[in-house]
Amino acid sequence: MAFSSTDLSPAALTDPQTVGPKPPFERQSQPWPGLARDMRPRPDHGESSYRGSGRLAGRKALITGGDSGMGRAAAIAYAREGADVAINYLPDEEADAQEVIDLIRAAGRTGVAIPGDLCSEDFCKTLVQTAIDALGGLDILVSNAARQQTHASILDISTEEFDRTMKTNIYAPFWLIKAALPHLAPGSAIIGTTSEQATDPSEDLYDYAQTKAATTNYVRSLAKQLASRGIRVNGVAPGPIWTPLQVSGGATMEKLEQFGGQTPLGRPGQPGELAGIYVLLAESGGSYATGQVYGAAGGSGMP
Ligand code: NAD
Ligand code: MG
Repeated sequence: MAFSSTDLSPAALTDPQTVGPKPPFERQSQPWPGLARDMRPRPDHGESSYRGSGRLAGRKALITGGDSGMGRAAAIAYAREGADVAINYLPDEEADAQEVIDLIRAAGRTGVAIPGDLCSEDFCKTLVQTAIDALGGLDILVSNAARQQTHASILDISTEEFDRTMKTNIYAPFWLIKAALPHLAPGSAIIGTTSEQATDPSEDLYDYAQTKAATTNYVRSLAKQLASRGIRVNGVAPGPIWTPLQVSGGATMEKLEQFGGQTPLGRPGQPGELAGIYVLLAESGGSYATGQVYGAAGGSGMP
């Protein structure tokens, strides 16, 4: 169960220091890519708190990594705001994904599950077409999936590992956006999940951090390129957020135990705390924002 003290609803007058649990956390690790349902405590994606008000009524969204973390938070919020939502994830994440599909359908919207590995260009093309066929179109693409593995030394990173991180984090968005673009009408939105790592890289995230610099960079170039087509491109740059990525990425137990404690708010973020940013960047109310990167890092980092 998600911890019950959290109220992520925008209307609540909530002290941000107390929205989620603080370190120390229980030591835990899972094999990559990990499952939200097996984390202790379970992350809060806004399951019991997000309330929609029709801000995305009738919209059609594809979210990669929509089974858990920020992707799940966006999927729940989008559905409750009136959008139909397709999610992509790895086959090992079926249990998390089915919970999300149930939540989308409970909101009265169409939920489409499309498992598969984004490291394949063919699969990326199939994913976009399958989503379009099932949803009857597409106007929001959230490129959110990523691979993150911690390595104390560059000498520990094999070419195969480096390649997999680049394929997932840099090539997949390239392939997905190329496949989606011919179908996106003016008013559509592309959102990339980047990271505070783009501008303040950690010593043990040599490969991952540079992919996030690339993500921030493509958000800015593509926003300029696609403005004349009426398509906005923005990024979200989270700080330390309590998601499976963190317990399946090879972080040391000492680091995990203190996760998020170094931020001014003194705790990691919960994925649901970023849902409102993904909604703002997708909805027409955000129509003058493009080429921007929105940070949510508990007072640390710089987008
Ligand atoms: P998460 O583990 O919940 O989400 C990552 C998702 O990526 C997984 O659920 C998985 O479905 C997907 N994925 C990974 N490799 C894939 C592949 N080859 N094919 C298909 N899907 C694949 O963790 P999260 O933290 O919510 O991550 C979402 C985004 O947030 C990522 O882009 C990550 O870089 C970014 N981010 C996370 C943090 C953090 O502290 N958690 C901080 C900054 C940025
Ligand atoms: Mg997952």
